[in-house]
Amino acid sequence: MTASGPQDEQPAAPAAAVASSPDPGRPAAVEFAGVSKVYGAGTPRQFVAIKDVSFSIPDLAGRGEFCSFLGPSGCGKSTVLRLVAGLGPQHPPTSGTVRVLGNEVVGPGADRGMVFQDYTSFDNRTVLDNVVFGLECRGVSRQQRDSEGRDWIERVGLDPARDAEKYPHELSGGMRQRVAIARTLILRPRVILMDEPFGALDPATRLDMQDLLVRLWREVQATVLFVTHSVEEAVYLGDRVFLMDTTPGRIAEEIRLPTPAAPAREAQSEPWFNDQVTRIHQAIERIEAAAEPIPEP
Ligand code: ADP
Repeated sequence: MTASGPQDEQPAAPAAAVASSPDPGRPAAVEFAGVSKVYGAGTPRQFVAIKDVSFSIPDLAGRGEFCSFLGPSGCGKSTVLRLVAGLGPQHPPTSGTVRVLGNEVVGPGADRGMVFQDYTSFDNRTVLDNVVFGLECRGVSRQQRDSEGRDWIERVGLDPARDAEKYPHELSGGMRQRVAIARTLILRPRVILMDEPFGALDPATRLDMQDLLVRLWREVQATVLFVTHSVEEAVYLGDRVFLMDTTPGRIAEEIRLPTPAAPAREAQSEPWFNDQVTRIHQAIERIEAAAEPIPEP
């Protein structure tokens, strides 16, 4: 199923909502063309996770788009994200094509970086050694990577003097996710994939992390695909929300939203924000109520 167009009916939103236009000659940052994924194909446990999913996220020059994926549990959000990442068993798709920056995805690549919900740091490495892990794999000299690593530790709101030599078990959940973000962004991916990165954090830390992410996203100017269960988070962070339907997973609606113009706590108490959140909650409730038994592939 092809995604529908942007919504016309939007609650009054800040003027900063105007998105830059994509350059028609530039390949999309991420493109799905008729993508389906069937797990356990040909076995009694065969399951159609997503069916005929098509969408295109433009590679906006000097900016990048922030796209959130929302929908009921099991609708295929993580499947979509991991197909972009080129990670099995989601990759390869059963049919259709996934392209990143014009190239068909054949596996993981340096153009993409992923941040997961679980704290994926190496327990036996310090914060600094976790942050610079990818640079080490690329053969960057110790001096260069330590300098870049300390810079990134600071950019994600940690204190290099205090935190660089700590081990993951000495950090709070929010601090660990800052390390995970630094470890991904230090490699300068053009496409950042985030699977519920703040799902395990308390509400206040979550808002702090949203502010941090908006700031870093502006700095690195990358395209972000962000999976979340939180409607508030999707509406605050997303230039666009892909609302997914279930059994089989597909894009039900694309919703255009204003780029964050105020800190999370402020923006999330504005009337347009609450109107939009209510509307999307209602749409998800309709999707859940209409969910049908799994059809034949
Ligand atoms: P979401 O992220 O929206 O919760 P997922 O993409 O994780 O959804 O999963 C979509 C559906 O595919 C779910 O019903 C899930 O149980 C199923 N699924 C995911 N991964 C596998 C797998 N490796 N094998 C079989 N089924 C899977």
